[in-house]
Amino acid sequence: MELWFTEKHTEQVHFSIKVKEHLYSVKSPYQQIDFFKSDEFGTFFTLDGLIMVTEKDEFIYHDMIVHVPMAVNPSIQNVLVIGAGDGGTVRELTRYRNIKSIEMVEIDEMVVRACQKYLPLTASHLTDHRVQLFFKDGINFIKNKKDAYNLIIVDSTDPIGPGEGLFTYDFYQNCFNALTKDGILINQHESPYYERDAKQMKRAHKKIKELFPISEVYQLHIPTYPSGHWLFGFASKKYHPILDLQKEKWEQLNLKTNYYNTDLHVGCFALPTYIKEMLAHVDE
Ligand code: SAM
Repeated sequence: MELWFTEKHTEQVHFSIKVKEHLYSVKSPYQQIDFFKSDEFGTFFTLDGLIMVTEKDEFIYHDMIVHVPMAVNPSIQNVLVIGAGDGGTVRELTRYRNIKSIEMVEIDEMVVRACQKYLPLTASHLTDHRVQLFFKDGINFIKNKKDAYNLIIVDSTDPIGPGEGLFTYDFYQNCFNALTKDGILINQHESPYYERDAKQMKRAHKKIKELFPISEVYQLHIPTYPSGHWLFGFASKKYHPILDLQKEKWEQLNLKTNYYNTDLHVGCFALPTYIKEMLAHVDE
């Protein structure tokens, strides 16, 4: 008998992966968690039936969420990561020796524990001595923080369920306050392609644009996400992602990456016309 995992990308479009084994299934207080083994994508896990991370394409997501801001300001020392229970974002951050502190706030401890067991590829650096784990709601954690972080990475689920509040104006305002005067905010910006995702993308962008003097969007290709075309937001009080790129400094760090490089850094901010138009008309 063949076993397939299927995710509805829209009501009319389904994406399926042939599964070798359903490794783990549990309902946490926040969401349904499932881990699967497959030949094509290796081990992968889903939350409420949506793919979060696969062994085969996670490097794309984690390279782009971490190395883009780090190449703009390689001197970053204090980082806050919200969500990111699989540990991939923290793994990439721990490669920078000058980073002194990484606080990771994940609402669901069961996601982290399951990733430590089934996805050591991403979760194995959560024990780094610079990492502090908080099993709390990121929305409350960040309230009343001032001038505390050089970089905040919001590595969240979609704006449904526990992740919903991570796409609100108040939350982004609190991120702004929690950042130092040269601080950078990177957030999961959804996809421009299917209508429902594009709507969320525009909503998020509108709010961030109102708050930050610099607010840009960059793209990446993730084969297992709806349409494969994904966006992250880069917002900052000081740095422009291209004009302030520290190309030589970053290259001198000699970090081996499989997706990110400094040519792509510049290229990924060059957006297709239909996305530029969407971002220019976020109020509509
Ligand atoms: N790469 C993934 C993607 O975009 O599909 C997301 C990575 S990670 C698994 C997302 C994490 O955000 C989940 O583990 C979820 O529990 C966490 N999360 C959702 N809402 C949260 C909140 N309000 N505070 C902290 N963590 C939250």
